[in-house]
Amino acid sequence: MSYVSEVLEKVQRRNPHEPEFFQAVQEVLESLEPVVERHPEFVKAGILDRIVEPERQIIFQVPWVDDNGRVQVNRGFRVQFNSTIGPYKGGLRLHPSVYIGIIKFLGFEQIFKNSLTGLPIGGAKGGSDFDPKGKSDMEVMRFCQSFMNELYRHIGADIDVPAGDIGVGGREIGFMYGQYRKLTQLYEGVLTGKGLTWGGSLARTEATGYGLCYFVDEMIKDKGKSFKGATVVVSGSGNVSIYAVQKVHQLGGKVVAVSDSNGYVHDPNGINFDTLQQLKEVERKRIKEYVKIHPGATYTEGCSGIWTIKCDIALPCATQNEIDEASAQALVKNGCWAVGEGANMPSTPEAVKVFLQNKVLFGPAKAANAGGVATSALEMSQNSMRYSWTFEEVDAKLKQIMVNIYKNASKAANEYGYQDNLVAGANIAGFMKVADAMLAQGIV
Ligand code: NDP
Repeated sequence: MSYVSEVLEKVQRRNPHEPEFFQAVQEVLESLEPVVERHPEFVKAGILDRIVEPERQIIFQVPWVDDNGRVQVNRGFRVQFNSTIGPYKGGLRLHPSVYIGIIKFLGFEQIFKNSLTGLPIGGAKGGSDFDPKGKSDMEVMRFCQSFMNELYRHIGADIDVPAGDIGVGGREIGFMYGQYRKLTQLYEGVLTGKGLTWGGSLARTEATGYGLCYFVDEMIKDKGKSFKGATVVVSGSGNVSIYAVQKVHQLGGKVVAVSDSNGYVHDPNGINFDTLQQLKEVERKRIKEYVKIHPGATYTEGCSGIWTIKCDIALPCATQNEIDEASAQALVKNGCWAVGEGANMPSTPEAVKVFLQNKVLFGPAKAANAGGVATSALEMSQNSMRYSWTFEEVDAKLKQIMVNIYKNASKAANEYGYQDNLVAGANIAGFMKVADAMLAQGIV
């Protein structure tokens, strides 16, 4: 049995009932086979055994009182996966589907993504099964404060720096930061995605969506293609999707569909960015409201139908496993020639196979959506300097980082016999840096 198979077998045995975590580990480890063959020192130092085991997992109670005076109890998580190349870094997700397996899958992916950015950040993830949907601002505040009442013991500007993810945007980061400051008397860059008047970075809000487009732009340019005149489908209508829509339009493409967990909107004239932003960021409404403002658009219940819309480029930006094999086949059949993953692990392994077999240019999440965390790391730098860069400065750094990620992933793929396979390339490029650092630092 190969070293990789041995470790995979152990991961499956020791983490039962966590299919998303196993899926993420399997995808990375299988692509590392040729790396491990070429580097027996990684086997000797048990690098794979160590990298699949979180350094620390914290699970805690989050009690809070709703607007009717009733006590509610949620479960909070922080998984500090790997801190070899920098302080733990990764978002917080608030969604009813959250359990330890989801947080571990996201934390594991974060190790490699953060390494790919070229910045000094380790991997972590956290969150809760709290559902912010339909809650009042005061309920969200009480939840966030209670969540921080425990989390603050485990984080710090040089220890672990959480950020946003599904269900956590500027409002939630604000409530959490306020509570952290109150509890610790520290004014430090302990969270990223902060407001601009209290330590946030310009372009952080836009960063994941913009970064995704910069990555895809570089990937398709390498094959002589461009966004100009391309029809694009973007799933979701949250932080990542909104700014992906804006950047696609700036680059000359046309986004014709967006969605939420209830359904999708198809607007053949192109999704109107201002309406989208107003509805989702300001009014926090459902996406179906869009068609009231743009009668030329149609709304369809159910989210997977979005992948049957004819497009050149698909940008899944909602959630994990949202594109299955059938959806991938529908995309290919309709002529889709590029996919960039804005969400984490949005394509099932079967879907990825369909894309690769059909020579669809495929930008995997780890590489393609790393712009968010990269800009979070730039926010940390600015906090340390007590200084802030202009929007243009941050955006230029983000763009350069995304171009470098593409180049490094592409180079690693070719070096290890995976010509044009950026899934393997991103895994290898991200892994090498962490593995070398783990070797250098000994068994700790
Ligand atoms: P938001 O909460 O802002 O938006 C999420 C969007 O996806 C909403 O439109 C939501 O619809 C939809 N969605 C969520 N869960 C599901 C589901 N189970 N089925 C269908 N649709 C769903 O989150 P973000 O935009 O921040 O994150 C989106 C993805 O991008 C996630 O995978 C996240 O991990 C990833 N990501 C985010 C980064 C960031 O900087 N924000 C950085 C890197 C990756 P609804 O409102 O109906 O729930």
